[in-house]
Amino acid sequence: MSLRPLEPRDVERLTLDTGPWLSCDDCFALVDEYVERLLAADSGAMPLMRGHLLGCPACAEEAATLVVLAAAETGVDPRPVLALIG
Ligand SMILES: [Zn+2]
Repeated sequence: MSLRPLEPRDVERLTLDTGPWLSCDDCFALVDEYVERLLAADSGAMPLMRGHLLGCPACAEEAATLVVLAAAETGVDPRPVLALIG
């Protein structure tokens, strides 16, 4: 049994169908601002980022690292924010 490999066109269609989610590149460009806003108790900030992080463990881990670093710097408890992006 062999499966037909996905063609670029298929991938593009699948990507388009997933809705207004960010790419990992977009996520990377915005994660600093997102972390800053979460730490400022703006928990509803940037819902697209939240959606991406919930579906993308790699970016979620990156964001969690930034949260811990930024929280340590500002003396804020990172745990509520980590729970949000977990
Ligand atoms: Zn990602």
